[in-house]
Amino acid sequence: MAIQTINPYTNQVVKDFEPASAQQVEKVLQTAEDTFQSWRSTHFDHRAQLMHKAGQELENRTNHYARLISLEMGKPLKQARSEVQKCAKVCHYYADHAQEFLQDEDIATDATRSFISYEPMGVVLAVMPWNFPFWQVFRFAAPALMAGNVGILKHASNVPQCALAIQEVFENAGFPKGCFQSLLIGSKEVDALIKDPRIKAVTLTGSEGAGAKVASTAGQEIKKTVLELGGSDAFIVLADADIDAVSEKAVQARLINTGQSCIAAKRFIIEQSIAEPFLAAFSEKMQKLKTGNPLEDEDIDYGPLARVDLAQELTDQVERSIQAGAKLYLKGGQKDKDSAVFHPAILTHIEKRNPAYEEEFFGPVALVFIAQDAEDAIRIANDSPFGLGGSIWTKDIKRGQELARKVEAGAVFVNAVVASDPALPFGGIKKSGYGRELSYVGIREFVNQKTIWVS
Ligand code: NAP
Repeated sequence: MAIQTINPYTNQVVKDFEPASAQQVEKVLQTAEDTFQSWRSTHFDHRAQLMHKAGQELENRTNHYARLISLEMGKPLKQARSEVQKCAKVCHYYADHAQEFLQDEDIATDATRSFISYEPMGVVLAVMPWNFPFWQVFRFAAPALMAGNVGILKHASNVPQCALAIQEVFENAGFPKGCFQSLLIGSKEVDALIKDPRIKAVTLTGSEGAGAKVASTAGQEIKKTVLELGGSDAFIVLADADIDAVSEKAVQARLINTGQSCIAAKRFIIEQSIAEPFLAAFSEKMQKLKTGNPLEDEDIDYGPLARVDLAQELTDQVERSIQAGAKLYLKGGQKDKDSAVFHPAILTHIEKRNPAYEEEFFGPVALVFIAQDAEDAIRIANDSPFGLGGSIWTKDIKRGQELARKVEAGAVFVNAVVASDPALPFGGIKKSGYGRELSYVGIREFVNQKTIWVS
């Protein structure tokens, strides 16, 4: 894929970028390695001061960075501003807490003293997606840099200006140049990077295919990986739920980021006694959503998808699902075959082996399933290759919590839309990946958890 900015709303190429040459790649790797040797022994106070400055840079220039996000991947400007603000929050969070999360941990044994010392690993390669082009990177970079590591970013090929802007955030904050560098390279160059001895670990957020490829190369090299992959989160509505309020939340959960979020609700599993009225309310609310030019229209709910080919792929998934027996409850769909705009749609009558039963739908198509009862809803929710997030909607909070334990996922929310929070671990099970980001758990992924024993 060419490295270029294409405005997905107009489908016009805005800017082309030359991929980095072999010499440039070498320079970035050596700069990262050299910087690590000094950065690893800096004090937490110094790192925290710089990380707070990175947060302030994002706060001071929110609009500037938000416009780049909207330009390159089409999310409404208001949502892009929130994304930049959330990145500032994660910078401040790790600036405030990294030292406490990584302090020596004494453990009583037969030794005079035995403890765990958390030490940085070195240069970490981050392979990142376009859907939250700032957030995905900052939730890796803030803890990694605070732990004493340095990062090299290989961003998705359609968000090169975001990649360069993130490097600029760290440079403007005063971080040494090699702490965080963006390399504009294609995905074919990633293998060689992983094999370079200066790269000590890899984190990838993206599709299952990319995750499997990166993890297998890293596996051959015996290098640690964290994989944040796709999801098909269940949104389970029990019979006692408030239909009007919950259908509103369902729309919000499906349309996050124009449906292009790993933790967007994708499968709506409704108890049969309320299925009809719920579907009617859900569909009515979906139809009221507004779309337009993400860079100009402040009041829109959804923008175009990030690329025309992604809209075409979603159209193909819907068509294949219908051929396999699913029915369109709300038609929606691609505006025309050369457009990235895709209007919200709802599919019902989805049986096992239907594409909609098995695949991730990365756009505003809601997949609706009807369950006999709560146990059946959990069974349907778990009958998925993915295990990222999920939510349960009920007036009975106690029952909601009990059922939450039965959902096979990395996070389950009761009466709330699934979202990430710097203080809570984030990640998946099954084909959604492994490892965790955020919280004290995330910062401990890329450190050597060293045992020190004193006799
Ligand atoms: P993608 O096509 O897998 O791309 C992600 C990154 O991987 C890009 O930088 C891409 O580079 C690179 N890449 C692709 N194939 C590769 C390969 N064979 N070897 C090395 N690198 C490779 O995913 P996407 O379309 O950008 O993002 C959508 C997917 O990400 C969805 O499945 C979504 O659920 C998942 N996601 C998961 C999370 C999570 O936290 N669990 C968060 C967000 C998104 P190029 O752009 O150059 O191809």
